[in-house]
Amino acid sequence: MKILVINAGSSSMKYQLIDMDDESVIAKGNCERIGVDGHFKHTTGDGRVYETDVVMNNHTEAFVQIKNALISEEYGVIKNLDEVSAIGHRIVQGGALFSESVLVNEDVIKGIESLIPLAPLHNAAHVQGIRACLDVFGTEVPEVVVFDTAFHSTMPPKAFTYPVPYEYYEKYAVRRYGFHGTSHRYVSQRCAELMGKDIKDIKIITCHLGNGSSITAIKDGKVIDTSMGLTPLDGIMMGTRTGCLDPSVVTFIAEKEGFTPSEMDTLLNKKSGFLGISGVSSDDRDVTAAAESGNARAQLAIDILEYQILKYIGSYTAALGGVDAIVFTAGIGENQCSHRINVCNNLAYMGVKVDADLNAKAIRGVEGKISTPDSTVDVFVIPTNEELVIARDTMALVQK
Ligand code: ADP
Repeated sequence: MKILVINAGSSSMKYQLIDMDDESVIAKGNCERIGVDGHFKHTTGDGRVYETDVVMNNHTEAFVQIKNALISEEYGVIKNLDEVSAIGHRIVQGGALFSESVLVNEDVIKGIESLIPLAPLHNAAHVQGIRACLDVFGTEVPEVVVFDTAFHSTMPPKAFTYPVPYEYYEKYAVRRYGFHGTSHRYVSQRCAELMGKDIKDIKIITCHLGNGSSITAIKDGKVIDTSMGLTPLDGIMMGTRTGCLDPSVVTFIAEKEGFTPSEMDTLLNKKSGFLGISGVSSDDRDVTAAAESGNARAQLAIDILEYQILKYIGSYTAALGGVDAIVFTAGIGENQCSHRINVCNNLAYMGVKVDADLNAKAIRGVEGKISTPDSTVDVFVIPTNEELVIARDTMALVQK
């Protein structure tokens, strides 16, 4: 069975065609600058690359590019579209409506649309992606939606309720939702497999550290708390996002500078974090390089990040009543071994011991345990694979 996985953004559409017989990626690519001018790149599993500037006025036109590439004589991977058994879409915000993946029908599309106020850029783009997919592939190919928020839906009210007047929860559903759920789910399940244990018997803290970052506490295979909130702005400091702040910082700066809510939103989401502190870049590699050549603000950005990861692990260990495993994943978690070891060395008080060699070797897609045999907590680096989770959920629902 071959499954097409779609991640539609407002001006981009990423895809992977996965062969579920061996879970290999047969082709992948990205439509960028949709509605602007248009750039399309398609790569096959056996290394053929097709790349072109092509106008894509909307998501339907982007889907036509994907379809043509998949069946093209030169760059194709299938003979005809019938070989695509189902399509799985990544959806950022499932709100309180969706606690698991579901097959798409008109009610589901309306549900995703109703959550647009909670994720204006993302959910609106996802709906365009689903509708464009229907235009090009027709209704006979089943579609499934997989939500970033779903894995976090097990959080108890004490973890998801914000202490603002309760009426705003009732009126506007203002609460913590959490994101990157598909990634936290994948790496926590993989962690249990690597430990040879039932996930229900272990307590795990998963650190998804990328351009956007979130940390999650998992007990009995269920999320009890996560660092991102109503939107992906909450939690630890990120590439350009603040992470959590004293809310007065927002009102104080807005008043002093005369910023509107939307200008503050841009400042908090796009100009802060690594970029705002270092003044160098939002990218960890650039900031680390600048710190190594003596840039004090770049070093400060790194110190803040490592300190915040440490604090989250500490507080989630308390929330879980202990921890059996810590997992690092995503761009920074999978590659920046210096942050991992600096954080873990500060967890020595609870018996965490990382092997410096294993840590240094676990980069660029390498999966494995980096803690020593006598560490009281197992520490893993596990490359995330959200597309595979989406494909697996899609297959499971379609086979039902
Ligand atoms: P996104 O949240 O956009 O999916 P990623 O998970 O790709 O982001 O993470 C991007 C971050 O990961 C950047 O800060 C980048 O510096 C870091 N990163 C990615 N690859 C590497 C690498 N090979 N070595 C060091 N850092 C990396």
